Amino acid sequence: MERWQHILKKSLIKAHQLSAEFELDSAKMERVVAEYPARINPYFKSLIKEKDDPIYRQVVPDEQELFDQVGIDDPLNEEGDSPVPSVVHRYQDRALLMLTHQCPVYCRFCTRKRFVGKVAISREMVRKGIDYIRAHEEIKDVILSGGDPLILKDKELEEILKGLREIPHLDIIRIGTRVPGALPQRITHKLCRMLRKYHPLYMNINFIHPREITDEVAIACGRLADAGIPLGSQTVLLRGINDDPEIIKELMQKLLAIRVKPYYLYQADLTRGTEHMRTPVECGLEIMKGLQGRISGMAIPKFVIDLPAGGGKIPMLPPDFVIDMNEREVLLKNYEDKIYSYPQPEHEPEHDKVGCDDCLR
Ligand SMILES: *Cc1c(COP(=O)(O)O)cnc(C)c1O
Ligand code: SF4
Repeated sequence: MERWQHILKKSLIKAHQLSAEFELDSAKMERVVAEYPARINPYFKSLIKEKDDPIYRQVVPDEQELFDQVGIDDPLNEEGDSPVPSVVHRYQDRALLMLTHQCPVYCRFCTRKRFVGKVAISREMVRKGIDYIRAHEEIKDVILSGGDPLILKDKELEEILKGLREIPHLDIIRIGTRVPGALPQRITHKLCRMLRKYHPLYMNINFIHPREITDEVAIACGRLADAGIPLGSQTVLLRGINDDPEIIKELMQKLLAIRVKPYYLYQADLTRGTEHMRTPVECGLEIMKGLQGRISGMAIPKFVIDLPAGGGKIPMLPPDFVIDMNEREVLLKNYEDKIYSYPQPEHEPEHDKVGCDDCLR
């Protein structure tokens, strides 16, 4: 067994372990964990400094998860876009392939809370997913997901990567993972040597709070980047955890410093069991407004809402950058609230002659 597997094996999982460790009511813990499994590995636990801090709230089960009257099991209707059980094919040219239901920790805010840690994904299901991708030439980009793909052993993961690389129409492979930030010991030299054989390979890593950027995490991300894998981040805005412009700013700057390019900042999905963690949309817009002009453009993610019922991702911009736009000028407000005019080109704009009064005369 590798070191990371030993660490994972020592995770807190059972209700009695969690209630003893965090001095919580064991009957309540029992009820939450029966519905939504928990896993807190010793590395991630070591980041918790006190009860209810931003690391604690991400992974310690909370009774409120059971009181959610708003959320839905499958908020993005992934099942509706799932031609075979391991694939979600929503956008024409790219598809998600689920490899496992396991993760380095079980995030209480997870969109796939309905199945992580519960419903196993068999090798046979993954094989059928690869068959589906092979049969659909329009798919250029496959996103390995789950659960967390990096929970698989090197050999299992390599078998899948090899199978995918035999598909001629597939350009890029992406891995969506929380492992580099939540179990950095998993990012071994051996893993990186294996991964680099399957380029072009990209990785998008889940990070929530700047406290997750430790020395170990910097080493893990450095190794992946040295293996030629472009690294992006995905961050979900969460109430009482990271819903603060200063926290997000610090996180984005720290990510860039460990060679991770901020990619998406997500409005939380309407997932059952997470309503107590959801923020108003204005909070994200406010944060985006605070970032513009104040930190490197390289460190600014896209703020998106993944629409309920499978509508897809929509980028959200603070509304007040553009004040007015007409044929002559665009009136804009900059990050310091100063107003500027950008003149339009002077030549006649191309227009629809049929509907134009001047042309008709
Ligand atoms: C987010 C997502 C993707 C990837 O979207 P990008 O904007 O290309 O990163 C693909 N498929 C599904 C179903 C998704 O939810
Ligand atoms: S690692 Fe990802 S898939 Fe797993 S519980 Fe966390 S958010 Fe969900």
